[in-house]
Amino acid sequence: MDGKKLEFKGEEALRELERLTTNARELQEAILRDIISRNKETEYLRKYMMGAEDISKFKSMVPIVTYEHVQPYIERISNGEDSSIISGHPIVEMLRSSGTTRGKPRLMPSIAEDLDRRTYMYNLLMPIMSKYMPGLDKGKVMHLLFIKAETILPYGMPARSVLTSYYKSDHFRCREPDPFNNLTSPNEVILCPDSRQSMYCQLLSGLIHRHSVLRLGAVFASALLRSITFLEQNWRELANDIRLGQLNPSITDQACRAAMSHMLVSPNLTIADEIESICNKASWRGILVHLWPKVKCIEAVLTGTMAQYIPMLEFYSGGGIPLVCTMYASSESYFGVNLNPLCHPNDVSYTLLPNMAYLEFIELDNGLRCGNEEEVQKEKVIGLVDVKVGKYYEIVVTTFAGLYRYRVGDVLQVTGFYNNAPQFKFICRRNVILSIDLDKTNEEDLHKSITVAKEILEKQNYLITEYTSYADSSSVPGHYVLFWEIKLMSEKLESGKAQSLVHPELIEGCCIAIEESLDYVYRRCRTNDRSVGPLEIRLLEYGTFEALMDLLISQGSSINQYKTPRCVEPGPALDLLNSKVMGSFFSPKDPTWNAGL
Ligand code: AMP
Repeated sequence: MDGKKLEFKGEEALRELERLTTNARELQEAILRDIISRNKETEYLRKYMMGAEDISKFKSMVPIVTYEHVQPYIERISNGEDSSIISGHPIVEMLRSSGTTRGKPRLMPSIAEDLDRRTYMYNLLMPIMSKYMPGLDKGKVMHLLFIKAETILPYGMPARSVLTSYYKSDHFRCREPDPFNNLTSPNEVILCPDSRQSMYCQLLSGLIHRHSVLRLGAVFASALLRSITFLEQNWRELANDIRLGQLNPSITDQACRAAMSHMLVSPNLTIADEIESICNKASWRGILVHLWPKVKCIEAVLTGTMAQYIPMLEFYSGGGIPLVCTMYASSESYFGVNLNPLCHPNDVSYTLLPNMAYLEFIELDNGLRCGNEEEVQKEKVIGLVDVKVGKYYEIVVTTFAGLYRYRVGDVLQVTGFYNNAPQFKFICRRNVILSIDLDKTNEEDLHKSITVAKEILEKQNYLITEYTSYADSSSVPGHYVLFWEIKLMSEKLESGKAQSLVHPELIEGCCIAIEESLDYVYRRCRTNDRSVGPLEIRLLEYGTFEALMDLLISQGSSINQYKTPRCVEPGPALDLLNSKVMGSFFSPKDPTWNAGL
């Protein structure tokens, strides 16, 4: 970030955005020069640049890498080695990304000043919103924000999610009062490690202030929907607390109790009656605007895998107010903002800011591949301002904290330019086929977990002949569904009978084994965050996958190259599979998970 200014008011922020986007090329070059100059003595850059400082050497000598390449350095630092092996500034924490490698979450290095960068980007958001929605400083914001479990690495460095790091920092806890960001939730409630108690108290705070809430949201749509489901289950208790002016005894966290006691000073029969009569309605269509009548927009990430939640949020918001996606960020770096916040989530493009990190882009073909997946050809890598409208790219980041030409794994498409800064639509996370909340399961993870189940079935003489999967978000929390055709190995029995003969315990055992073999983040979402429901296996009639092939070929898939899709989306393929289900089995217990890595 050039300059140290973090806070901008109104017009000043818009001018800052003009400056950034107009000077995108110069700012990107300046940031790369700065990173090289600060970090040239690190073991990493010495190895590849041998002390050189020029940008052209960086581009020709430093490799484009994935996490496997970075991991040994991260492990050395986690085990107590000096952070100067990759960064010129002390690494103060590791940010636990929701991406995983070999089942474990990836750790991204972070230095103290990274908090300033995040704060800087947050401070640009409200001036952009206010340009389109005046008066947002005249009320409150009900943002449902949660921290996640953190661990301390062997030599004392914390490993936690980027949002947990931010909410626990002084930048958030000791922020100046801001009329645009007057949160309904007290800090103590946001920082409560028990997510159920936190959610209860945040909803209660929001309901108490229901007549002054102007913006409502969560970081990701999945968390917002989970909170709405929680409200469906708990509104009577919440209304009762407001009626009595007393917090439910199930809230045992002392910091939460103390913070809430300032809000529940006396019984409020009027608000309690209003909430009860609204929540008692048979349909919850538009519940968000009924409960919070002044709300002008709903904010949450609804792009990428979160797009599956758009219809549900449209239902709960009644369709009359905008669903706003404000920014695109990751543990590696915060990337960009949405300059057109009122556009529909399907049409959102993010303008990447040129002063957060040095950004490069690997050009992908239409199948979203970049040729040799392991070794990227140098000529396919271009700078931020050189991308072309319409093309697909994978984003590559270089940071002050010690990531060099690191492939983030996100696929973006250029939709246009704002001044000289390109704007990108988020297309997908590379390879991820299943995702409900922060979990990201790729084809390989899924295949590995199916292999474990296959072994269990084979011992009982069953074979899985074909499978596919589906992220079912029609219930909250959503869950993974696996569609299987199985058959008995015995020659005398025709395939197809297997489905009706199989013992439910056997398939439930497979559900357990599959969940156990899915990665750390999946198991955390299932067991700790409760943001993903039990995995389900649906057994299909014999011949269903043949019928699926016929269907997909009739829709244009090539016969020669046909492969069973390992994941299906809502539509005719899913309808076909669902029409052939002979039995459905859920995982009967939570998978093991502990906060340690
Ligand atoms: P994490 O590193 O766990 O914070 O996850 C960051 C990832 O979340 C990004 O690399 C994206 O894949 C995804 N993500 C973050 N913001 C957005 C967004 N606005 N739209 C779509 N995906 C997003």
